[in-house]
Amino acid sequence: MPKYRPVATGQSFVKLEEDIVQRWRERDIFHESVKRRADAPLWVFYEGPPTANGLPGSHHVLSRVFKDVFPRFRTMRGFRVDRKAGWDCHGLPVELQIERELGLKNKHEIEAYGVENFNNRCRESVLAYIDEWNTFTERIGFWVDVDDAYFTLTNDYVESVWWSLKQVFDKGLLYQGYKVVPYCPRCGTALSSHEVALGYKDVLDPSVFVRFPVKGQEGVSLLAWTTTPWTLLSNAALAVHPDVTYARALKDGETFILAESLVGRVLGEGAKVVETMPGSALTGTAYDPPFHYITDYGPRGHTVLEADFVTTDDGTGIVHTSIAFGEDDFRLGEQYGIPVINPVRPDGTFDERIEEFAGRFVKDADPDIIKALEREGRLLRAEQYQHSYPHCWRCDTPLLYYAKQSWYVRTTDYRDELLANNASIDWHPEHIRDGRMGDWLRGNVDWALSRERYWGTPLPVWQCDEGHLMAIGSIDDIRAHGGEPPQDLHKPYIDDVVLNCSHCDAQARRVPEVIDVWWDSGCMPFAQWHAPHENQEQFDRHFPAQYICEALDQTRGWFYSLLAISTMLFGKSSYETCLCLGLMVDDDGQKMSKSRGNIVDPWEVLNTHGADAFRWYFFTSKQPWDGYRFSMNAVGESVRQFMLTLWNTYAFYVLYANLTTPEERGLTDVDRWIRSRLAATVELATERMEHYDTTTAGRAIGEFVDDLSNWYVRASRRRFYGPDGAAFATLHECLVTAAKLVAPLTPFIADEIFDNLDGSDASVHLCDWPQSDGRDVELEWQFEVARDAVELGRKARAEGKVALRQPLREVVIVAGDRERAAIERFAGLVRDELNVKQLRFVGQADELGHWELKPNYRALGPRFGKRMPKVAEAVAGLDAQRAARTLSQGGTVGVVIDGEEHPLSLDDVQMVLQPLEGYQVERAGTHAVALNLELDDELIREGLAREVVRAIQNARKEAGLNVEDRIALTLGGDDELVGAARAHEGYVAAEVLATQVSYDGDVAGAVAEIKGRELRIAVQRTA
Ligand SMILES: [Zn+2]
Ligand SMILES: [Zn+2]
Repeated sequence: MPKYRPVATGQSFVKLEEDIVQRWRERDIFHESVKRRADAPLWVFYEGPPTANGLPGSHHVLSRVFKDVFPRFRTMRGFRVDRKAGWDCHGLPVELQIERELGLKNKHEIEAYGVENFNNRCRESVLAYIDEWNTFTERIGFWVDVDDAYFTLTNDYVESVWWSLKQVFDKGLLYQGYKVVPYCPRCGTALSSHEVALGYKDVLDPSVFVRFPVKGQEGVSLLAWTTTPWTLLSNAALAVHPDVTYARALKDGETFILAESLVGRVLGEGAKVVETMPGSALTGTAYDPPFHYITDYGPRGHTVLEADFVTTDDGTGIVHTSIAFGEDDFRLGEQYGIPVINPVRPDGTFDERIEEFAGRFVKDADPDIIKALEREGRLLRAEQYQHSYPHCWRCDTPLLYYAKQSWYVRTTDYRDELLANNASIDWHPEHIRDGRMGDWLRGNVDWALSRERYWGTPLPVWQCDEGHLMAIGSIDDIRAHGGEPPQDLHKPYIDDVVLNCSHCDAQARRVPEVIDVWWDSGCMPFAQWHAPHENQEQFDRHFPAQYICEALDQTRGWFYSLLAISTMLFGKSSYETCLCLGLMVDDDGQKMSKSRGNIVDPWEVLNTHGADAFRWYFFTSKQPWDGYRFSMNAVGESVRQFMLTLWNTYAFYVLYANLTTPEERGLTDVDRWIRSRLAATVELATERMEHYDTTTAGRAIGEFVDDLSNWYVRASRRRFYGPDGAAFATLHECLVTAAKLVAPLTPFIADEIFDNLDGSDASVHLCDWPQSDGRDVELEWQFEVARDAVELGRKARAEGKVALRQPLREVVIVAGDRERAAIERFAGLVRDELNVKQLRFVGQADELGHWELKPNYRALGPRFGKRMPKVAEAVAGLDAQRAARTLSQGGTVGVVIDGEEHPLSLDDVQMVLQPLEGYQVERAGTHAVALNLELDDELIREGLAREVVRAIQNARKEAGLNVEDRIALTLGGDDELVGAARAHEGYVAAEVLATQVSYDGDVAGAVAEIKGRELRIAVQRTA
């Protein structure tokens, strides 16, 4: 009965991980890991809720594994980490998907279909893929409590959100304003500024310069510029800056009025300024508008007004104003008493007032409007103008700036508190605080809260016929005002609830709007518990969160909504640390999208490389906010570079531990070294993981595993055949501790290794995080020195083109006293790794050869000019060895030219070390080694014996023997090869586990070719 389960190699990790998923489920490890810490201090993580109306993509793996890794780490560090899952259920994206499914084109069609049916479809769709999400979540190893998830559509959640809105209402922060808002005509609703920020795109728009003829002055026009020709149809006024200098400029017999500084740019050559005046002098000038559909703008309509917002950065310095379609325009209208006349319907088409354009979508009408301007002689010039313009972040329609009534939350009252609370957040990366988030908060505008839509949290404001407003904060509140709460708090049912006005005798009805879905998700700290209506103590214990993590674009989404709501309600940020994730692009740097066809299906990755490889890639290839050039291949790299190294080392251990019973031995220096490296890795990984840095922590663990495999095991291989108990104990310790260190990062492989090698608990994820056993820094340094010598020696071998199996006489190493002691401590390892008979030390690099000096023409040429040949001659005449020593110690040597002595320094000469005859020298920095490449018969025979061993090992494998099988060996064939084997028979027999060796020139068996000679090998398993 072997001690450990046998370990297969050369297979993918997919099947193994699927088995482990099963094991975790059976042993209920996740819940157990939380239960074990029931009384431990809490460490709080908030799940930013995704919407389950589509299948998860690869970018969801990114965010979900970063949400997983630190809760796992903190649990091992002794904290209790409750991880409540959550689902974002409301909002425009959900509605849009249903509109597409039902083939509905606008709000009229939704209402004809029926709001009740429509919302039922929305409700079903947000839960449609929950099972797929849960399977996916489990498969990638994201431990989150899906059995206890919150859903933003439940009455409980809605009721908590209502509570928050009543707080805001009672503080006087909720108001209804007539404002110009960014508006999506397709979705039929206004967008908040953070939604607008999500959809900027570079587009080409028309740019037109238009004549506005001055009334009563033949041949004189005010000249204005716009990039939205469709707004000219409702032109109401022109605006000038009172302090800017304007000019009357004559061109081709026509007079234009525009800012003096822009005359050249706008009118070009040949324009002549005939008169200048301040903008204030133009005030009141009446003009003839380009179109006459709307004329009732009052006494100040179609005249020149003064406005401070006018600049001369572009255009003409005269701004065309259409009250309903711009924030500045709107305010100007208020100031001068010009009425708001909005001839654009909510669907973005002109209404019947705009006769010939009625029914056309405004932006589509631009070309015909330009033609009309041209026909009427109003157009001076039309061009294309490239600028960044906001589009609806969900349906991609260009937004209109549009005057309408909306509900707002006065977040601007809290700008200073928002900035102060932002400053208290530990941002990763740090620059988000003053950069992206700080900029956003400094430019804060009131939160446009309402949406004229259907599937969302209803705005809990009721209004009576007298215009009194009241906010409802709970279901009980409805009853208290004489209403009957519906079973479902959504539209349309809630709209039937009639309440008694709290200010008068009249009855109050709910306003029709629902709220911005971002407000929902920003309420999750309390709404996930249904606080304050119940579970208040749960909320108190879980507020604020220690950690949240989402993509960088959530700065203006969830990160903002969490911060804004908790600042207004609780006076502080709802999260302490925020990790921002960058964008994923394909391996050509292209954004991933369906239309490009470059989306990588996460299941394809999971079913090819597995979840650990996927996770390792995200954790270690980059700092997560730098973004990823993602491909299947990139994930495959983590398998090759890390997973296989760890796995093969583990498999090696299990194989030999099952074969032998280790005998007690003392630790060697190599054991002590790898144990110290382990301690160093524990210390660094702990410190970095505490600082939310998986990149450095993961890479440090990767380097340790590399050292373990490529240095420790390699150098100790024979001890495992030994069997040397100290080597087994050391490797066991290293593997089990490494499993604990990688448990948060690659939870599957970690658990498998732990389960097989240790098994003291049901899972590695129930273990405590490892502690450092203390380092021996001097020993680590000494090993580094020895390793440098080996690496230089290997390079020398490669340069000298001598196979590693060929033993060499000696290696000469340049070393000071301290380095020499270091290398001597690991002399056995250095000899083995370089396959040399002896080490020799010298104090100076020049003992590895002799120096040749040449003048450095670049340095000396300018100094000596025509005398350079004499300088070259003098340098050649120097005692090269002595001069080289002086120069390399920073001294100077003198050369005499034409009877005058000139000092030369290291920069003035080139020093070339010519190696000793028969040696290959390699240098790096102050390190240097020389390998003696001269071979004699003895060394050649030994080299051949090693080749013979390799050939026999291959023959064993081909014969299907196990590593522990003993054999009877018979060799035949080439005399030299057989002779070499005979000469080193003891060595050969020990290496290939031969209990008897015989020689037979005619033996039948495997044929191996070694250096053009033939060796015949027969192996026979013995009892
Ligand atoms: Zn839209
Ligand atoms: Zn009232």
